[in-house]
Amino acid sequence: MSGSPSLDKIPITVVAAGSSARLHWRRRTVQAAVLIIAMLIPLSGLLRIDPVAGAFVVLDRQIWWSDFFIIFGLWLMLASGLVLMYSSVGTAFCGWACPQNTLSELANRWTYKLLGRRADVSLAGEKMKVAAGKNRLGNWLLLGLIILAAAMLFSLIPLLYFYPPDVVWSFITLRPDERLASSLHYIYTIFVIIFFVDIAFIRHFWCRFMCVYKVWQ
Ligand code: SF4
Repeated sequence: MSGSPSLDKIPITVVAAGSSARLHWRRRTVQAAVLIIAMLIPLSGLLRIDPVAGAFVVLDRQIWWSDFFIIFGLWLMLASGLVLMYSSVGTAFCGWACPQNTLSELANRWTYKLLGRRADVSLAGEKMKVAAGKNRLGNWLLLGLIILAAAMLFSLIPLLYFYPPDVVWSFITLRPDERLASSLHYIYTIFVIIFFVDIAFIRHFWCRFMCVYKVWQ
């Protein structure tokens, strides 16, 4: 009893202590599922890009980029899909499914672990924050290595959209393969740099100022 009749009328709902933990794991499962689907699309041959032929490859059939109506229809479908998604789920998409947010959360987690619970090293216009007791070279190096490993791993996903899986495997295992373009190492390096900079420094900046999905928020 609160002593106030008006406060006593407010219904009280008891929420089980474990519900937020359950929600957390459901969210993690959805995030992992989205990344797996992003890999399965090219691995299954559902969609791949052939820049040399100037075509999309859908289930072993080529769709030329010059085929205006199909390509225009595809972009129209993607744009409408984004609008529809924002209208129906709003920013829930960011927290539950967007790979950019998944990467940001991973990076935040390691940053807090190695540089302090309130650490912030991303370029969002604010001063860098690092716990005095954790501001050690070893912690910075370990964080850099973890982010580099994540960038190298995630950079393989775009490659799957340009090369068949066995060619990507040859690339990973350093096996000689004549189908590997000599420029592939440069392309991969550029992807790694982009992912590294994104994860390490501009992960929040990207969401605030560069994301198209943000246009509707
Ligand atoms: S704002 Fe854009 S990039 Fe950021 S989490 Fe949402 S959809 Fe992803």
